[in-house]
Amino acid sequence: MKITKLSTRRIKIPFHKGEKWSGGTRYSAPSLIIQIETDEGLIGVGESVGPTIPVIQTIVEQEFASFVVGRDPLELESILHQLQEYCLNWSHIGNYGIAGIELALLDLRGKIFNTPLYNLLGGLYRPEIEFAGYIFIDTPDNNAREATGLVGRGFRELKMKVGRDVDQDIARVAAVRDAVGPDVKIRIDPNQAWNVKTAVRAIRKMEKYDLQMVEQPTPANDLDGMAEVARAVDVPITADEACATFEDALRLIDKRACSVFTIYPSEAGGLLKARQIVDLANSANIWCLTGTWAETGLGTLANVHLVASSRNFPFANDTHFNFMTGDILTETLDFQNARLKVLNKPGLGAEINQEKLDYYSRDQQREMVFYDPEDSSFQPRIGMIK
Ligand SMILES: [Mg+2]
Repeated sequence: MKITKLSTRRIKIPFHKGEKWSGGTRYSAPSLIIQIETDEGLIGVGESVGPTIPVIQTIVEQEFASFVVGRDPLELESILHQLQEYCLNWSHIGNYGIAGIELALLDLRGKIFNTPLYNLLGGLYRPEIEFAGYIFIDTPDNNAREATGLVGRGFRELKMKVGRDVDQDIARVAAVRDAVGPDVKIRIDPNQAWNVKTAVRAIRKMEKYDLQMVEQPTPANDLDGMAEVARAVDVPITADEACATFEDALRLIDKRACSVFTIYPSEAGGLLKARQIVDLANSANIWCLTGTWAETGLGTLANVHLVASSRNFPFANDTHFNFMTGDILTETLDFQNARLKVLNKPGLGAEINQEKLDYYSRDQQREMVFYDPEDSSFQPRIGMIK
C-alpha cells in the first residue's frame, strides 16, 4: 500500500459564546484537518490544532507532505523520525503539524488492521471517558448558575479559568462551591497569570473551597518558581504550558515542580509521544489528564483513545465541545452524563462529513485568541497579576 495524497483544510468552528480566560477572549475553534489517501482506497484523517493554523498548514503542505506521499503508511516510525529530524530546530511549531499527520497515519493503520486506535496503543483500559465542565471568567453569579447547570448535566468535576483579578477569582470560586456543594471537584487555571508570591497567596485563600488542583499558576519558563509554589501549598499543582513535550516532562520531574501533567498530543508531537509522557508519569508517580486547544470531534477522539488505553488518567479530562456550535463528523459525539463511550470501530472511529467540512472552511478570518476584543486596555498578563 502506498500513500498517494496528503491534503489539508483549514476550518473554524464558532463557539456559542466567548471564552474569557486570563490571556484573552476567544470565540471559535480553529484547526487543520488532514486527510491521507492511499492507492487502495483507504483514507486516514487527522487534525492539527495549535497557536497558528495558517503556519501549521504551510508546514504540513510545503515542508512535511513530501516525506509522507509515496510511502507505505505502515512505516510510521521511519516517517515520524524523518519529520522530527527535519524540524529539529523548530520543533515547537513543527510538532503541531507532526501530530496531525501522525493521527491520520494511526487512523489509517487502525483501518488497515481493522481495529480501534486504542488497540494500537495500550488496548482498552477504560470503556468510558469522563470530562470536566469548563467555566470561563464571568461574574460570580453567572459562574454559579453555569456550575449548577453543568452539575445538573452530570459533570462531577469543574474547571474554572481564573487569573484576571485575584479578589474576583476568590469570590467566583466561593460562589461556585456554594452552588454545587461539597461533592463536586473544582480545579482552577490561571494560565501562568500569577507570579510566585501571588500564586501562593491566592491559592492559600482559596484552599478553604477545597480545590482539586491548580493548573499552571506561574510562568512556564520558571520551573523553580513553580516548584516553590508546589512546596508552599497543599493543593496539587498541574503543569500545562510547562508540559508540552517529553523533554519538558523530564525537567518538571527533575524540579519536582508539579503533581499532575496536562498532556496535549498536539503539543507533544502526536499520540505516541503523548503516550511516552504518560509512561514517564507512571514511573514518576505523577497523575495525568488531557488538555485541549478546542479540537473538533476528531481531535477529541484522539484524546479519547489515549485516555482509554492508559492507566494514569484519574481525573475528568478537558473539552471545549460544549462550547462549539457544531462539528465536522458524520455522527456527532454523544456525550452522556459528561462521558463519552469508547467506540469499537476501526481507527479513530469517525468519518468526516464533507458538507460540514466545507461549511466550517468558509471563514478564514484570523482569530485573536490571545487578546481581548472586548477590552481595549487588555495587555498580556503572564506572571503579572498582583
Ligand atoms: Mg491550562
